[in-house]
Amino acid sequence: MHVYLDNAATTPLDKQVLEAMLPYMQNHFGNPSSIHTHGREARSAIEKSRKTIASLLNTSPSEIFFTSGGTEADNTAIISGIRSLGIKHAITSPIEHHAVLHALEYLEKNGEIKITYVQLDEKGHIAEEAFEELVSKNPGSFVSIMHANNEVGNINNIEWIGNVCTEHQCIFHSDTVQTVGHFPIDLQKLKLHFIAGSAHKFHGPKGTGFLYMNHNSTVKPLLYGGAQERNMRGGTENVYGIVGLAKAMELAYQNLEKDKNHIRALKQSLIQKLKLAIPEIDFNGDCCNPEKSLYTVVNAALPQHDINEMLLFNLDIHKISVSAGSACASGTDIGSHVLQSLKADENKAHVRFSFSKYNTMEEADYVVEKLQRMYK
Ligand code: PLP
Repeated sequence: MHVYLDNAATTPLDKQVLEAMLPYMQNHFGNPSSIHTHGREARSAIEKSRKTIASLLNTSPSEIFFTSGGTEADNTAIISGIRSLGIKHAITSPIEHHAVLHALEYLEKNGEIKITYVQLDEKGHIAEEAFEELVSKNPGSFVSIMHANNEVGNINNIEWIGNVCTEHQCIFHSDTVQTVGHFPIDLQKLKLHFIAGSAHKFHGPKGTGFLYMNHNSTVKPLLYGGAQERNMRGGTENVYGIVGLAKAMELAYQNLEKDKNHIRALKQSLIQKLKLAIPEIDFNGDCCNPEKSLYTVVNAALPQHDINEMLLFNLDIHKISVSAGSACASGTDIGSHVLQSLKADENKAHVRFSFSKYNTMEEADYVVEKLQRMYK
């Protein structure tokens, strides 16, 4: 058995998505900017995909811009948004993805903005009172708060954040990379200026995503070049990627309830069985709270043990693929900025298990059994 429990890093491509993409790799290879039949076929696939995505998010196709993924969407919202709207102050949280934090830090180092980090409560959620005070003292700021955290799975109440931002004339961007395709997002109800989505987090292809940009927040492009994406992003479009993104999103929302119930049961079972197998185990963030965390993510703090140094390696030997904190932080010695901000115990081994619709109860049980043996 080979168990893949690193779905917050990336998910396997759905076969139906691959099938939707293949014709655009093999036959319909035209450049969407060309006016001949080949080009028009590709253009029409892009515009159909845009409509699909817009309708799933209850917004207008003219507010969807295709990008190379979540990072580019976040960077465009933040860098172009702040510059074009002449904003001088940003409010964010210390546990945002680096696609957000590093973009904001770049602007700060460049002398363009000052960043204020909002306080978190003991579980790692935005401390609501502190946030409200911060926003009311800094009207007109650029606020970037993620919908759900990719390492510990905490969900923020973006409806409430949007209302607070509106009250104080702030621009609100939310990194929704971990929630698009997993939770309904109704852009008519939410007061958001920008959101970011990435296909490979919901069984679509890597290297393709989108930026939602509200009509009222017109910004300058991040990439200059041709007139693609209504002059917002120069460069020939990733046609088969875009087709795959739309197909993956369509399937994700079609089967949302069924997949959610299946994955939620796996998550709950893993937590319960791990608690019994390793009584000293702890969990990071609010991942045990089903109301306020992703149903896909469990972040466990395993007790001090000789095995901890080589834990991921040992799990890998047992054919279990998981991540230490976040895939983006693994492989470096820096450690996870999220776990550091949450003051996670340095003596423990922190492992993120993240599920998809393809995981089974048998796989979850296999992981518990292997971990129990290791921590005996
Ligand atoms: N934001 C979050 C919360 C993520 O989890 C990721 C991916 O790990 C990204 C942004 C970056 O997305 P992409 O890999 O599509 O650039």
